[in-house]
Amino acid sequence: MSKMPLANTSTLALRHRKARLLRSFHLPPEILHASLVERFMKCGKATCHCRSSGPKHGPFFYLNRCFAKGQMQSLLLKSSDQVDQARQSLAAYAQVQELLDEISQINHELLRRGDPLVAADG
Ligand SMILES: [Zn+2]
Repeated sequence: MSKMPLANTSTLALRHRKARLLRSFHLPPEILHASLVERFMKCGKATCHCRSSGPKHGPFFYLNRCFAKGQMQSLLLKSSDQVDQARQSLAAYAQVQELLDEISQINHELLRRGDPLVAADG
């Protein structure tokens, strides 16, 4: 997960790395936390090929989002443009999460060493 073995890195290098990460941080406006799910389905027509051994309809793309206790909201994406936007939004979320995780790991290591999380000189 981490890109460098934190325990073997000097405190100064950790602080520099953290400063670089913080400088590079920006919150993408399209950020979205959800799962993109692809589904093939049977339709309601009794005589349709999908009812026998023929191919099902699809793919249909859904955005699944968890909220409250185990409850899930499923949103059908209606166009390929929406699917593209959803993919970009999920990628933006993953990128931000990765960056936050790395800063978090550096802060964890600084705490483990008994060093202050924010140095006087930054
Ligand atoms: Zn069908």
